[in-house]
Amino acid sequence: MKAYLLYEGKAKRVYTAKEQPGQLVLSYKNDATAFNGEKKAIFSGKGRLNNEISSRVFKLLQEKGIASHFIEKLNETEQLVRQTEIIPLEVVVRNQATGSITKRLGIEEKTPFTPPLIELFYKDDELGDPLINDDHALLLSDISAAELVEIKEKARHVNKQLKEVFASINIALVDFKLEFGRLASGDIVLADEISPDTCRLWDSTTKEKLDKDVFRQGTGDLLEVYQEILQRLEAMS
Ligand code: UDP
Repeated sequence: MKAYLLYEGKAKRVYTAKEQPGQLVLSYKNDATAFNGEKKAIFSGKGRLNNEISSRVFKLLQEKGIASHFIEKLNETEQLVRQTEIIPLEVVVRNQATGSITKRLGIEEKTPFTPPLIELFYKDDELGDPLINDDHALLLSDISAAELVEIKEKARHVNKQLKEVFASINIALVDFKLEFGRLASGDIVLADEISPDTCRLWDSTTKEKLDKDVFRQGTGDLLEVYQEILQRLEAMS
């Protein structure tokens, strides 16, 4: 299915798909990184878990009418996606305060955000993905002002849908990061991955962290908590 390697990131490799122009194969690696790549480790089986979880989440969103790059899961660690040009923005949606916002703005941990808060970061490892405003986003990417409005609307809609999905498996969706990509047609769709690498997921009852924070903070077993997320998602269908 794979033809040649286009790009290698921290968590995934991207290949062109053989005889399928306009399609790519995303291959999930076992690498975990945090703090802009400063903390690194390899967890055998992580790639499979991220691929399974992200495939399920994109499928659920598609069933709810949310377009994305996702086509299908190919095997344990790979999925087929539509080729997009990634817009260099990290769109973060927050339902509760935790992580960088508590330090940056002195907001108390667990403060609820109603309506949810949206933040934009410029996707640039060398700059450490800085927080930017709307004007910066228009300057630093090729999107129009109307498209930026559309992206934020989509992010709010994804949040509404995902909050419900996770609530149904007793998980609070605390915050998450989305990326968007432009298809050859010019349309902008949801892209990249949605997994415990990119979301903060807390057990609604025990408040246990079931996401990459266990690795960032060294407080738990990454494979165990990712497996827990997958099992709960599997139990839904
Ligand atoms: N996030 C991500 N990739 C990044 C930065 C953040 O997926 O490069 C996710 C992170 O997992 C969390 C949300 O975006 O769910 C908000 O992260 P925050 O800004 O609080 O960053 P952190 O505390 O990790 O520095």
